[in-house]
Amino acid sequence: RVLIASLCVAYLAVKWYGPSFDAESLKGARVLVTGASTGIGEQMAYHYARFGAQIVITARREKVLQQVAEKCQSLGAQSAFYIAADMASVSDPDKVVDFALEKLGGLDYLVLNHIGPSPFSMWEGDVDHTRWLMQVNFFSYVQMAWKALASLEQSKGSLVIVSSLLGKMSSPFVAPYTSTKFALNGFFGALGHELAMKKSNVSISICTLGLIDTEAAMDKVKGVTKVPAYPATDAALNIIISGATRQTDLFYPWFTQVVTLSKDWFPSFTSYVIQNSYNYTP
Ligand code: NDP
Repeated sequence: RVLIASLCVAYLAVKWYGPSFDAESLKGARVLVTGASTGIGEQMAYHYARFGAQIVITARREKVLQQVAEKCQSLGAQSAFYIAADMASVSDPDKVVDFALEKLGGLDYLVLNHIGPSPFSMWEGDVDHTRWLMQVNFFSYVQMAWKALASLEQSKGSLVIVSSLLGKMSSPFVAPYTSTKFALNGFFGALGHELAMKKSNVSISICTLGLIDTEAAMDKVKGVTKVPAYPATDAALNIIISGATRQTDLFYPWFTQVVTLSKDWFPSFTSYVIQNSYNYTP
């Protein structure tokens, strides 16, 4: 009990006395957001626009990106550029960072958020899909981070990694997806240590999200689970704030942190809850 009370006090102290968010700091900030044609990425683009940032957005669908960029301009972005790219390609991740550096003259925030589509089903041995998803959801992140690092170092910038509760805790029906998120947490956790040890200027924020009400996610879990979904626009704002305040970790909604603790402290109970939170008959 003493341990739990101490953890709660420490958590609340960090929440209350941690760095506060200054919206002005994002005015003119040079930001690259990936996976910004829809979902949380699109919402992040709109928030950055309202804060007066200079934005580059990317995803595969050019027409949709064009519409998002136009809306960003109307919401107050200092500038909004877009570039269509496929993160399954080996060359596109570098191409996107080069484009952003050229258009914005440097980067203050690199927000890595895209994911490739992946089925919500029992794993039936599709190794090729798992490998492909690793390229889209993981290797492209590593590649873009490395390409942008020198510029972020110069600007005392931030790398923001959008991850998931499923990057800390395995769950059925999403084996390839959950693997890519574990890989992100492992890699960027290690890189965060290395940057701190080198006294680098660059901060890394790893964002652990629970279920968020994007169209893609809702389509997958419809009728399968009763886990509550949280609003994409609020998730997007919390991600932006964690980058701007250089927090190393974000848990959104807050109880995702409790779930990760429960998995370590009460593994059998947590597995029971996970396996029984889906409608599934073999
Ligand atoms: P969406 O599926 O709504 O959006 C995915 C984005 O990635 C789209 O802009 C899509 O655009 C782009 N994309 C897909 N494939 C590629 C590709 N091959 N190359 C480049 N871009 C691609 O995702 P969400 O908004 O729901 O999720 C955003 C982030 O939040 C992800 O990292 C996800 O893991 C995380 N998250 C989401 C949760 C949720 O419940 N929604 C829960 C936990 C974490 P296009 O099709 O135009 O390429």
